[in-house]
Amino acid sequence: MRITRRSVLRGATGLGATFAFGRAWAATEMDLGERRITTLNDGYLQLPESFLIGDLPQGEARAILDAAGVAAGGYEPPCNVTLLRSGAEVVLFDAGAGPGFMQSTGRLPEALAALDLSPEDVTHVVFTHGHPDHLWGAIDDFDEPLFVNARHLIGRVERDYWTDPETPVTIGAERQSFAAGAARRIELLQGMLETFENEDEVLPGIVARASFGHTPGHMSFEIGSGQALVVGDAIGNAHLAFARPEWPMAADQDPEQAARTRLVLLQELAERGMPLIGFHLPDGGMGRVEKNGEGYTFVSEM
Ligand SMILES: [Zn+2]
Repeated sequence: MRITRRSVLRGATGLGATFAFGRAWAATEMDLGERRITTLNDGYLQLPESFLIGDLPQGEARAILDAAGVAAGGYEPPCNVTLLRSGAEVVLFDAGAGPGFMQSTGRLPEALAALDLSPEDVTHVVFTHGHPDHLWGAIDDFDEPLFVNARHLIGRVERDYWTDPETPVTIGAERQSFAAGAARRIELLQGMLETFENEDEVLPGIVARASFGHTPGHMSFEIGSGQALVVGDAIGNAHLAFARPEWPMAADQDPEQAARTRLVLLQELAERGMPLIGFHLPDGGMGRVEKNGEGYTFVSEM
């Protein structure tokens, strides 16, 4: 038997299971009848505060962050990969960052092992967008697809953006590595990667919803007609994005378009009382949206 990193992980599930109920791994779970959703922790990002505040009014932004308990200095949001299990389907929404992004990310295989799942068990990987913390984990450190048995699905607009030879020219200096990294991973996925369009049913009962702005082709996914919305990075944090959703955020590639998308999503989530799952939201990323004056509040399900 060829011992691979994956079989080692598989063999280590006894150890991993110790952590199965710890906050570090299976952070939150949502039971939707025939579907069960678990968020898996891929680690956390380590970013400068400028990534968060950018050109926003410093005083007001800082006050919102203080109220949310976000200390000045570095910003370390969690990365929540959504796992959906339904019958024989084992679906991941995004693949985490993999081995090549940050020291503090790339823990998804361990989080899966803690649930006694291996990458081979995954039947579908559905991408919200092509940023490193969402896409790069689809390729392992041998430059091979990690989820060897899975169909991989990405929005066509998003795929076209990252494979466009103009993108490294237009994306700007600070995201150069994103462009090269995404193009390379998409190439390594080769024939495994399928595309879908806005409002396509990507899987039975799961509908893609264009939520452009964070990236040019960012997609959210509505599960079971209002049961939950996987928003990826369309609602990228639990403080500024909720309190002042109209503010242009430095984290978004098209800040104006992203703000319009965010406003529409937050209003709908609040009105419909629909749970959301956000990739960088706290407490495993599951919660609800409540109207709060001119803005909104994230109400964690934990
Ligand atoms: Zn992200």
